[in-house]
Amino acid sequence: MTHTETHPVDATRTERCPQNRPKGVLFCPTCGHESPVGGDWHVDWRGDTRSLTCPECRTLVSDR
Ligand SMILES: [Zn+2]
Repeated sequence: MTHTETHPVDATRTERCPQNRPKGVLFCPTCGHESPVGGDWHVDWRGDTRSLTCPECRTLVSDR
């Protein structure tokens, strides 16, 4: 029996998300600032809509 099987090295890797993001943590897409919901985000209420903005660069960050 000379049959040999080759397995790609990547086959052993099952992790798809290199960044394991805890639930409830928001990230600013612009500067990378991260903080949990209810953290140091600036909260603006516009009617019934809550808007979170980054305290560092003022980018609007969605929490939905
Ligand atoms: Zn930011």
